Amino acid sequence: MSEVLVLIDHVEGAVRKPTYELLTIAKRLGEPSAVFIGPADQASDVAEKVKKYGAEKVYVVDDSQIKGYLVAPKAEALQQLAEKAQSNGGVAAILIPSTAEGKEVAGRLSIKLESGLITDAVDVQEGPVTTQSVFAGNYTVTAKVTHGTPIITVKPNSAAPEESEGAGTVEEFSATISDAAKTAQIVASQPRQATGRPELTEAAIVVSGGRGTGGNFEPVENLADAIGGAVGASRAAVDSGWIPHTFQIGQTGKTVSPQLYVATGISGAIQHRAGMQTSKTIVAVNKDEEAAIFELVDFGVVGDLHTVLPALTEEVTKRKG
Ligand code: FAD
Repeated sequence: MSEVLVLIDHVEGAVRKPTYELLTIAKRLGEPSAVFIGPADQASDVAEKVKKYGAEKVYVVDDSQIKGYLVAPKAEALQQLAEKAQSNGGVAAILIPSTAEGKEVAGRLSIKLESGLITDAVDVQEGPVTTQSVFAGNYTVTAKVTHGTPIITVKPNSAAPEESEGAGTVEEFSATISDAAKTAQIVASQPRQATGRPELTEAAIVVSGGRGTGGNFEPVENLADAIGGAVGASRAAVDSGWIPHTFQIGQTGKTVSPQLYVATGISGAIQHRAGMQTSKTIVAVNKDEEAAIFELVDFGVVGDLHTVLPALTEEVTKRKG
């Protein structure tokens, strides 16, 4: 069976959930091989994690000559690895997380391998045939790469990770990085301040605030903390400068698909829906009973969020005891 290369999404060796989603998808297409570009001394830990989701092989590319640079060396390393795997038994597809970095790596790789590229897939089935949700979720497009090795970037939450034991055989791969790939160097980096909340795109619960918050996100944050959720926002809240863009959900923000999405003070514009409409259970709090968001919800509360959210938070906290 041909290999399916999956680029591991990780922060300092901590594997992020989209990797497990990609491995789950990879199993539909061929034999999953995870690619770890990172410190070699973390490889065995990473291999233990990804083999639980079906990785038969774990290619390790030590990043000591890569990590000081932006994405070009990663694309070069992946190219060399894909060419080697291609000559060994074939590569059915290369799956990459749809992050900003992932998409840049994928774009560069597609040129290097002269292969077709599909970005922001929300589903990938045998073929591989991809599904994309475009024009603010108004159209669903199915597509297929017709030339070269299909390179596909997949949005987070596009598959439920399924555990299945793979061999997890570690293979070191030594890439030769050209000077041309080292022309953009990282001069400083600092980790984002930890909020103690789950990462927005991976969270099982998201509580979002919109213009209706009037700029006071405290009730939204308090509810999120009480139920272990992440905080999100509409573009109106972001554009008003109440909360950074990294919290924005929607067409021009992040896509989330949690078990529970609580929209508060958000009208439910099509562009916002595009980023949250696949959530399993949707709850809205809005003082306008005609608000479009109520068309989507499983449970709706017509009321002022500044009254409803503190009451809800208090009740949750009381019951948690
Ligand atoms: P509003 O539409 O103003 O709604 C506020 C809601 O809060 C109202 O329904 C009101 O009844 C309610 N409310 C007011 N006070 C209270 C209160 N005290 N308690 C309870 N409810 C209250 N938007 C996004 O969110 N994400 C995107 O990625 C995005 N991308 C876009 C891309 C393009 C190209 C364009 C043109 C627009 C995009 N937008 C996006 C903007 C989108 O069209 C809406 O303008 C935006 O989502 C509105 O945000 P909102 O619901 O917070 O504000």
